[in-house]
Amino acid sequence: MDRRVFLKTGAAGLATLALSGPAAEAKTRKVNTPLETQGYVREPARQIPVVDNADVVVIGGGPAGFAAAVAAAREGSDVLLLERLYFLGGLFTGCGVTPIINMFHPDSAQKSRQAVFGICDELYRRLDEVGMICWDNIRPKVDPEAAKYFMEDFCAGAGVRILYGVQAAQVTQSGGGIDSVIVEGKSGRVAIRCRFVIDASGDGDVLEWVGEDFTVHKNDIGAMWRIGNVGQIKKGSPTPVKGVRTLHTAGEKNQDGLDMYNLTRVQLGLRKRMWEEVAQWRSKPGGEDLYLVDTPALVGVRTTRVLDSVANVTTEGAATGKVYPDVVGITGGDSNLNAPGGKILRKNRLMWQIPYSSLTPRHIPNLLVAGRCFGFEKELTYDAREIGTCLVTGQAAGVAASLAVRKRQSNRDIDIAELQTRLRAQHVKLEA
Ligand SMILES: Cc1cc2nc3c(=O)[nH]c(=O)nc-3n(C[C@H](O)[C@H](O)[C@H](O)COP(=O)(O)OP(=O)(O)OC[C@H]3O[C@@H](n4cnc5c(N)ncnc54)[C@H](O)[C@@H]3O)c2cc1C
Repeated sequence: MDRRVFLKTGAAGLATLALSGPAAEAKTRKVNTPLETQGYVREPARQIPVVDNADVVVIGGGPAGFAAAVAAAREGSDVLLLERLYFLGGLFTGCGVTPIINMFHPDSAQKSRQAVFGICDELYRRLDEVGMICWDNIRPKVDPEAAKYFMEDFCAGAGVRILYGVQAAQVTQSGGGIDSVIVEGKSGRVAIRCRFVIDASGDGDVLEWVGEDFTVHKNDIGAMWRIGNVGQIKKGSPTPVKGVRTLHTAGEKNQDGLDMYNLTRVQLGLRKRMWEEVAQWRSKPGGEDLYLVDTPALVGVRTTRVLDSVANVTTEGAATGKVYPDVVGITGGDSNLNAPGGKILRKNRLMWQIPYSSLTPRHIPNLLVAGRCFGFEKELTYDAREIGTCLVTGQAAGVAASLAVRKRQSNRDIDIAELQTRLRAQHVKLEA
């Protein structure tokens, strides 16, 4: 069936698409294979070949991991950035999430002020130079392909080594710290020795492996996606590419983003829904040429594991613009906030500081956390995981990791004043 025909008949065809797995097997499995689906199998012990080493290994190439890797490399560390997909940007570029929220802060209903500088600002300027930014009120919207390209270009410029197609699967420890990261890829299961690890996996994967303290935040799983040639059908909002518009599907509420069966079920449902909506718009006069540009490569998980850090950012701290002695960055507050004293409307929010202690786990001395899994209180979820904020936490973690490696210190022992000096030298803003 070609794409055009499928678009007309697609909804009906997709009704037969269903998930295999324990949740939905009765209807969909062709053979009821009499094999156990419980208990355990024993994986034989084996030697894992060491294939590489790095001062700093960054796990995950989303906004946080990208910024962490570039920042650490610019401080002189040898950095290896591990990414299971074949592009950078994580949900930013892989789930069509193109508006960089919290880079600009709403000073009132109409006016905004830039909150985030550093690597976020550099990336924004490069994208703007080539016309790959457009504006939606205070949120710059980026073309995902341009972002992928420039993120790789920044890594190349800083000397970051990228390794694609590898899923970090475990770490080994010695002397109280992580000494290698084990990855699975087309070369098999191999190990990378390291001095320091930054968990920028979005899901806090390392926290689980090393037994660090974390809380799981369930959240909506949705998607952002793009359509083209919209004609008379006024759907979505503009993107930097002429004729292409972006749509947001909030998705299902309160989902477990760590259950592979659930993730598959949600992603199948989202894609089906997108095709059905497109088919409907195409059936209307003036919408005949509308088409689906892309469905997301990544399922739109908002939050899962969140670090219980040395000191999480509190809602009150963000609401009152608390000043932290160990501040490592500042971010915008571009959403309404349910603060302890009552709801604060977006137009009345303050910029808020991110302390180093909120990136710092309680036990492992050579690990930091960046991005949507750093330590914050649940009410802050909508602010803490925005791309602008993720870039701030990533840059801070990268500079801190590099400092720790250079001075042979633990994450708790590094000199905060020196960290702040280095961050300022990288054009990070620490005060509102
Ligand atoms: C539907 C939806 C809409 C959103 N809308 C907006 C918006 O409009 N504006 C905004 O600013 N933010 C928005 N967000 C939030 C924002 O996109 C994310 O919170 C942000 O991208 C998180 O960045 P991150 O680097 O922490 O993690 P991610 O973007 O999740 O990146 C993590 C990366 O790590 C990789 N990875 C994960 N585990 C491993 C592993 N074990 N080994 C190797 N690689 C691994 C992943 O492939 C991914 O590339 C939205 C999110 C969703 C889901």
